[in-house]
Amino acid sequence: MKGEYKTKSRNIIVEYLRENADKRFTAKDIVDELSKGSEPVNRSTIYRNLERLCQEGRLVKFKETDVNASCYQYSEQHECCNSHIHAQCSCCNKIFHLKNDIFKNVNKKIQAEYGIEIDYGKTVIIGLCNDCKGLR
Ligand SMILES: [Zn+2]
Ligand SMILES: [Zn+2]
Repeated sequence: MKGEYKTKSRNIIVEYLRENADKRFTAKDIVDELSKGSEPVNRSTIYRNLERLCQEGRLVKFKETDVNASCYQYSEQHECCNSHIHAQCSCCNKIFHLKNDIFKNVNKKIQAEYGIEIDYGKTVIIGLCNDCKGLR
């Protein structure tokens, strides 16, 4: 029965994230939302599943500039969000999924010069997107 509960909770979480794929959440937002539903999911299950979805690359975890917490955004069309760099607009917070080949040489140079290898899945570049540039 335990396995069944696990799968069910995961489905509720994924379903919720999928329905709100255009939004960003903190873990707390998700906990608040899912603990008051008709089938409440407990907090530790939510946290565990968020971590797992990040590892699977279906969820992007990033730092919101004005919130002091990690945020999450669901990403179905980009199944490998744990293996590429993201860029985030500092104005509208939109997430961009960047191609790795852009960074091949940069990564090599950084490694040669500083001895550090970029962790693509954990790297978020902050910038200003075209839409927001147009508004200014
Ligand atoms: Zn991505
Ligand atoms: Zn923007």
